Amino acid sequence: MKIAVIGTGYVGLVTGTCLSETGNIVTCVDINKQKVQMMQQGQLPIYEPGIETLFHRNIIEDRLHFTSDLASAIEHAEIIFLALPTPPGENGAADLSYVLGAAKDIALLVTSYKVIVTKSTVPVGTADKVKAIFEQYTDVKVAIASNPEFLREGVAVEDFMKPDRIVVGTTDEHARKLLTELYEPYVRQGNPILFMDEKSAELTKYAANSFLATKISFMNEMANLCEKIGADVDMVRLGIGTDERIGRRFLFPGIGYGGSCFPKDVQALAKSAKENDQDLEILEAVMRVNVSQKKVLIEKLKKHYNGNLKDKLFALWGLAFKPETDDIRESPALAIIDELLKEGARVVAYDPEAMNNVKNIIGDDIIYADDQYEALMGADALLILTEWSVFRNPDFYLVGKLLKEKVIFDGRNLYQVEKMMDNGFYYNSIGRKTVGQIDREIPTNTI
Ligand code: NAD
Repeated sequence: MKIAVIGTGYVGLVTGTCLSETGNIVTCVDINKQKVQMMQQGQLPIYEPGIETLFHRNIIEDRLHFTSDLASAIEHAEIIFLALPTPPGENGAADLSYVLGAAKDIALLVTSYKVIVTKSTVPVGTADKVKAIFEQYTDVKVAIASNPEFLREGVAVEDFMKPDRIVVGTTDEHARKLLTELYEPYVRQGNPILFMDEKSAELTKYAANSFLATKISFMNEMANLCEKIGADVDMVRLGIGTDERIGRRFLFPGIGYGGSCFPKDVQALAKSAKENDQDLEILEAVMRVNVSQKKVLIEKLKKHYNGNLKDKLFALWGLAFKPETDDIRESPALAIIDELLKEGARVVAYDPEAMNNVKNIIGDDIIYADDQYEALMGADALLILTEWSVFRNPDFYLVGKLLKEKVIFDGRNLYQVEKMMDNGFYYNSIGRKTVGQIDREIPTNTI
């Protein structure tokens, strides 16, 4: 099949690459010419495990192409995917200008029947808006479908190649047939392609992300309660997660959810519900909890240092919003850096993949270390902000030697509390008991 994918971000590039892997001829379009040039030269603009092999193989085999020329990309395509950004616009509603703008551009160029598929996360009613644009700008017949994407950054290729389910919202029989054919190789194990109306498909995506964000905020509140009453959130997590009705996943407390999806999608769903005279009270609470959870580590630090973080040097392990990605959009680490700098503290950070993206945003306001141990040299404390595997089992002897004081604030609960106590660390994590004491030298003038 001949496919065009408009937008080559985390979703578009993974979609285009994985569709070419099953033999389709795919042309990916992006308005960012520099990005297109990079990809034409065989360079990946994002970090995503597993994509590299597929990307190179399909370029070499002439199935995967990149261009910034929309007209040539769509000319022979049977299906056109819109994988464009839907960032939060005014008042938190999704900004549809990229999706609707591209729909109009396509409508003005299209000369033969196409299936137009929205992969972006869009509010209910967007398919109708896309349909209206085509009706307004062209006489050529097109079919419209909503096919929200559920891939997770970090395991995006695996998710695309073996999805739990594929959701397609369309009332057009031909679109249904074509998309079934396209997706069949990805659901050979029997996972379903769920066909539904466009509105239900659009809402399904928001409902999924909002439900997952709810699980996270719920566990973060449980963790905060655990600290107050002396319970252990790890035990509570296992205790409830083994109940099949609840499930084990998304029960890890931390420093708040981030990323390019949860914050904006929860906000957009709450907003669009309001526009339809329905308050989603649970989601309002989920967002409030998340805002305060992003500040939890700073509050812990202030308490530890008697309210004064000025001139303290903090080593940060992790900047990406989650491991195995270089994506820093809405990363809790950025909010923490911002607060630390406001408090007059200094920051030295290490992340295996996300440092360049952070540099592009905040420049030299912080120091970037070449490796995780270099970041620790002379720092007052280590803050763990992303659960990269490489941070899970460090050389604690070296960590203790390099830090000025053996102090760790762990926003991701990477270590066993008892182990940290045995290693002589002051160790403060989320929803578990804090162990260790710091023997600070008593200033001579107070003796
Ligand atoms: P992104 O910001 O990484 O990429 C968007 C790309 O579109 C950019 O490369 C940009 O240059 C390009 N673009 C913008 N306007 C264009 C135009 N007119 N023509 C061609 N290209 C254009 O976005 P993303 O993370 O891939 O997300 C895309 C959509 O998918 C969003 O709606 C998002 O909510 C949704 N989604 C994202 C994820 C994820 O994990 N990132 C998962 C599921 C769904």
